[in-house]
Parts: sequence; C-alpha cells; structure tokens
Amino acid sequence: MEEVGTGLLDRLDAMQRVAASAPGGPMLIVAGPGTGKTRTLTHRIAYLCAELGVFAEHCLAITFTRRAAEELRTRLDGLLGPVAADVTVATFHSLGLTILRENATAVGLPPTFRIADDTERETARKEAGDDAASYVKLLRAQDLVDLDELVTLPLELLRQDPDLVDRYQARWRWIFVDEYQDVDETQYELLRLLCPPDGNLCAIGDPDQAIYSFRGADVGYFLRFAEDFTDARPVRLTRNYRSSAPILAAAVQAIAPSSLVRGRRLDPARLDPEAPLVGRYPAVSATDEADFVARTIDDLVGGLSHRSLDSGRISGNAAGVSFSDIAVLYRTDQQSAPILDALSRAGIPVQKRSHNRLRDRAGVAAIARELRLATQNPTSQTNPASQTHDLATRVRQTGQLLADRFATPTLDSSSTPSPADVWSAVEVLTPLARRCGDDLEQFLAQLATGAEVDALDSRAEAVTLLTLHAAKGLEFPVVFLVGCEDGLLPLRLFDGRTSDDDLAEERRLFFVGLTRAQDRLYVSHAQRRFRLGAERETGPSPFLDAIDAGLFERLGATEERRPKDRQLRLI
Ligand code: ATP
Ligand code: MG
Repeated sequence: MEEVGTGLLDRLDAMQRVAASAPGGPMLIVAGPGTGKTRTLTHRIAYLCAELGVFAEHCLAITFTRRAAEELRTRLDGLLGPVAADVTVATFHSLGLTILRENATAVGLPPTFRIADDTERETARKEAGDDAASYVKLLRAQDLVDLDELVTLPLELLRQDPDLVDRYQARWRWIFVDEYQDVDETQYELLRLLCPPDGNLCAIGDPDQAIYSFRGADVGYFLRFAEDFTDARPVRLTRNYRSSAPILAAAVQAIAPSSLVRGRRLDPARLDPEAPLVGRYPAVSATDEADFVARTIDDLVGGLSHRSLDSGRISGNAAGVSFSDIAVLYRTDQQSAPILDALSRAGIPVQKRSHNRLRDRAGVAAIARELRLATQNPTSQTNPASQTHDLATRVRQTGQLLADRFATPTLDSSSTPSPADVWSAVEVLTPLARRCGDDLEQFLAQLATGAEVDALDSRAEAVTLLTLHAAKGLEFPVVFLVGCEDGLLPLRLFDGRTSDDDLAEERRLFFVGLTRAQDRLYVSHAQRRFRLGAERETGPSPFLDAIDAGLFERLGATEERRPKDRQLRLI
C-alpha cells in the first residue's frame, strides 16, 4: 500500500494536486489524453477518505467499461488498502443493475430476475412483432429485463419515488464520472437524480475524445456541465505524461482542425531527445500492411529481447518490449482478418477484442445458459462442471460439454454455435471467470452487460488487437494504427458521403488512436484493399495531412500514390 496523506499528493503535479485536494462541490476536469485524469480521480478519492474524513462507502465512481472499473479498483486498492473495498466502482449498467436488484419488487420483478440473452430477446421480438409494449410484457412474464432497461428502469423508479432518491443520495455523497464526454441522455438523467444535494459530482473527460454519438452519447452534456451544475469548479490538466514528444505533437496537430476545446493545450512531460518519430508505412495491399506489422513486432520483441541491456531499448521501457506491450488498432473489425493471419503465420500470440457486447459473441449465451442450468438444478445436472471446481475450470468444462453436443449437427443448426465458436468463447471468457473468483452471479451479470473489451487480459503475453472504439482509456508502449485510408478513417460507406459531424467524430477517433501510444507509434495505409464487396484503390487518410511531414519516419520502399479523385474507386 502506498503512503497516504501528503505523500499521496506528492505523486501528482501542481494542477492535478489542486483537483485532487479541492473541497466539495461540483467539479469538471477537462483534460486531454494522458494527462492523468484517472490518476487524479483515484488520488482524489483516496485523499478525501484518508485526509478529509470522507467515508469510502459514500463514494461512487462510474466508468464506461468493466475493464476501466477494474483498473480503478486496482489503483484504489493500492492507495487505500482494504478501505478501498467500500468504494462503489461501477459501470452505468452495473450501477443500474444494483439499483434494480435492490428494488426489483417495485417494478414487479422478483429479486432473482435475469437479463435476457440473445435467443430470449429474439424470441420475444418475433412474438411481439412491432409492438414495443408487448415485447416488454413477454420478457416480464419470464422474469427477464432487456439490457437497455438497466438504466431506463432505475430512472423510472427514481423519478416516481423521491424517498428512494433521498436514500441513494444519502448513500453516495460523492460521485465521480470518468469519460463524461460519452454519457447519453438516460445516463445523464440518472446522474442528475443521483447527484448529491451538496453537489459533490466530479465529471472528468475530454470532449475531443467523444466517439460514441452513434450510440446516442452526446458531448453536449459535457459542454454544458457548468450551466447544469452552477458554481462548478473547472480544472484543466495540460501535461501529457503518456506519450513521447513526437507522438504527442502528431496527435495535437491531428485534432486541431476540429477540436472542441477552446485553447486546447497539451504539453509533453516526456522530452527524450532520442524518441523515435512516428513510423509511416505506405503498403501496397492489406496483406503487405499485415506483413509489415508482423515483421516489425518480430523485430521489436525478438530484437530487443537480446538487445535489452544496451541503448537499443525503447525509451522508458526498462524490460524491453514484450508482446503484451503492443496493440494493433483499426477502424472496422473486418480489418483484423489479414492482421490475425499474418501474426499467426509469424507465430506471434494475439488476443482480439472489440467493443461489441460480450453476449452477442457466438457461444457466450450457450455457455451462460448451461452454467445457470447447472446451478438451478444441481441434482439432475446435464453439466459435468460440478460446482466444486473454480469458475474458470467450470467454464472450460462447460465449453467441452457444448463443443461435444454441437459437434452432432442438431435439427436447428443455424442458431447453434459451432464447436470452434464455443472454444473461442471459452478463451475470451476465461480471464473474466478468473477475475470473478467463485462468484457465478457476478460472472453471469458481466456476460449480460459487458463488452468484449471488458474480458481483456492485460497480463496475457499476447499482442492486443482492438477496434479504435474499444481502445478508449487504454495505453500501450507500442501502437500500430492500421488502415489510415480515405474511406476507412474517415469511414465512408457506399455513397461516399460523410456529414461534417461524422467527419469530426472520425477525426476524434483518429486522435484517440494516436494518443494510446507511449513510446512508439506506427501508422500505415494500403493502396488497395477489399472493401464493400470489391477490390478498391484507396488513398491515405486526409487526417494524415494535418501532421507535419517532419514528424514521420518513412518506412519501406513503396512510393505513396493517391487515386485521382480521392474517392473509393473500383479497380
Ligand atoms: P485518457 O484520456 O486516455 O483516458 P488519462 O488522462 O485518463 O488519459 P491516465 O491514464 O490517468 O490519463 O495517465 C496517463 C499516464 O500518465 C499513466 O501511465 C499515468 O500513470 C501517467 N501519469 C499521470 N500523471 C502523472 C504524474 N503526475 N507523474 C507521473 N506519471 C503520471
Ligand atoms: Mg482515462
């Protein structure tokens, strides 16, 4: 456990310290990537508890992904020791689930209600046709709720019951929300209701990293925080501790044309004169690009493992580069196929995650159902995964059972996962099961509410493949941002048109990607790629044009070419 008290604030810079030690009241921390928002948030909670006598059980910290919540929890454990367990750390969905479990009967649900899985949702949808009210009734008849209702139902409950609002406000007197730029309307309404009377709401975020408007998020809530919560204390953090100076300079130039933050400043805290420039690789094709990624990873990891004691090391990385230090980021999930292929041919271990919901992954629902069946009916278990084993083992055994079962084609084979699907689901779920210990209910709740990225194992000795959306909030010593092409980033569909708002969001996504990198960043683009049903000629992303050529190191011998009209063209 780290030293608490003033020692705790010593680990922050002057601006972070002001934010961490400020008295109560609404606070808005507007800060760019890598400026230590998460660090400041955890230190603020620790400082309030250790120095100002705030009870840890009065603190609620909300983030967007389960993985981010776990990261918060780990950092709080380190700062506060056992007391940290009393802080509520939640995602919006898990917060909603908690409120709903505690008040299930008020909405006509038994406390044992479940979140509907895909098959259950589909069946209810088909039966209900277009009738949204009867869809809900069909779910309720089976004691089920839809995932989207995890925020809307608690909101309804609280709106109808001021006493309940009082009770929650008395429980959580200090609320902290990370990535506030991505709240949507229902989450915002829920926060406004829960907001403690003395206004101890601390919102943290970066409008330039707002990337979820397609899911209903609205950066407008962030921008008008000061109007909604009067006397909000504004805090700006401007020193970036994450990225080397060339990476940061490239990122700042990239976001400049559509920055939502007036007078945006991001100063590099890292000023290593030896820091490498941003590697730029113009590839002939998607396969060539994927081979470049594999080759470079091989050089970095292989090369550095026996050069780790001399100056060939990547700066700031004392142990040399390992596979877990590396991420490959892309705009669309389809881009991962050639990368996966090239990495596996080169014998490089990989873990791939998207921001898709976990339960949408083939095989996950079947495993969840089987685990639940075994718990509900312990005497006539069809599942050999006896409850005497730990959860991870039970998940594996359940996978074996299902893989065997689905290897005999069933009558309804279109809706059953293949044995390969089941094994790939087992692989994704194992780290999550390990983290849940023996708590099956918690595990099942995470399967129902979590995203694939939540199941990421940050300690796995493997290169991480992520969509840009799933990479939010994470950092890696080495980042490859592939497919920096006009049409992919910004993404354009068949008609080739993109609205100004869409274009600005795509640029923010590019900014999020660049700013995940700590020590080395590679951007690449291919001259031709199979997209939208055909092999197409593509040009480099216009977003690259905003970056000074002097910040790039040109890699490879391919000359850069742009298609004449800079639109996607059929070859
Ligand atoms: P993002 O917008 O991407 O979520 P963030 O603002 O939340 O970024 P953090 O992840 O908290 O940034 O911090 C980025 C990195 O900088 C972390 O590795 C963190 O430990 C480090 N860092 C932050 N503040 C300091 C500091 N005062 N001294 C040293 N390192 C720091
Ligand atoms: Mg963060």
